[in-house]
Amino acid sequence: MTQTAPPSTPAAPAATLNGENALSFPLGTTLPELGQALEVAPGILWVRMALPFALDHINLWLLKDSEETATGLRHGWTAVDCGVTNPGTQEAWRQVFAGPMKGLPILRVVVTHMHPDHMGLAHWLCEQFNAPLYMNATEYQSALLASTGASNFGGASTQRFFADHGWNDPADQQQIQSRVSYYANMVPKVPESYHRLMEGTEIQIGGHTWQCISGWGHSPEHMALYSRSANVLISGDMVLPKISTNVSVYAQEPEANSLALFMRSLTKFDVLPADALILPSHGRPFVGVHTRTAQLLKHHEDRLAEVLDACSERAGSAHDMLKVIFKRPLDFHQTTFAIGESVAHLHALWHAGKMKRFKDEQGVWRFQTVSN
Ligand SMILES: [Zn+2]
Repeated sequence: MTQTAPPSTPAAPAATLNGENALSFPLGTTLPELGQALEVAPGILWVRMALPFALDHINLWLLKDSEETATGLRHGWTAVDCGVTNPGTQEAWRQVFAGPMKGLPILRVVVTHMHPDHMGLAHWLCEQFNAPLYMNATEYQSALLASTGASNFGGASTQRFFADHGWNDPADQQQIQSRVSYYANMVPKVPESYHRLMEGTEIQIGGHTWQCISGWGHSPEHMALYSRSANVLISGDMVLPKISTNVSVYAQEPEANSLALFMRSLTKFDVLPADALILPSHGRPFVGVHTRTAQLLKHHEDRLAEVLDACSERAGSAHDMLKVIFKRPLDFHQTTFAIGESVAHLHALWHAGKMKRFKDEQGVWRFQTVSN
């Protein structure tokens, strides 16, 4: 089941989990052209931007909006997510400004989470239109730290963390150390101020109320947005139709139980109507949220069972478990994300008391299944 797609951004999923046959896609296979948009629901436009990774696109959303001014209503758009900072994405945005946005301004920028493909151009969009940023506090602070150097995706602490989990190849270690500006290259700047989104926060956008649904495990405190009146969920990276969201443990929080948090977060979408239109950050808009979250939960349960089995005879490290979880060789770049995902699986079992953990003579964390 797990064919691995190259995970190459923090947003990038480590595994393909294509459950599309069981979902329905109201727009079929139609995709918006670069610099263009498709209306997916009244007043909601789908924009697709290129990404310089194996995961080659991100979906952004424009919601028709207006605001009160001294001289009456000012019409414009709320943008949800931004694309990475690079000249090509800026050029595609300029085409969107002039074309689908009909020259109307962006009135505010909402960012679901801090990953570079979502956050990258927030600074530029906010500056272009003098628009405020709306974001969760933890995500905002993490973006600010990462863009000024505390990257969490490379550098000495990440190198040590990976070594602690059995990734010891000296050449790879060197390369991990040098990835220190990985995030800042795509998010060179973060807006200086923001409006805080929290679980349950309601935002009025263009006649609809959008409610924030927090989610964990993929990023610090991801905000999905659901509108009951539009019956639309902007799911961000929490629920994707074709690929399984990357769920990693990072050096900054080395004992995190990210996978348990992610799986618990998925169950929060159970209360949505079955016919809600889901707007994911990667892949196509779909209907079938409950089917999809069930597929994702089963996928992780299956991987957990395999890891438990693999460590029953002999204790294994996260590096040892890569072949169990991913089932094919991974290149360096893929391994940087896959290893965090492997730690997440081991930690889920360890925190649940199904595994014990100890350091071996080389200082590598090893996990052993607890026999009943
Ligand atoms: Zn992400």
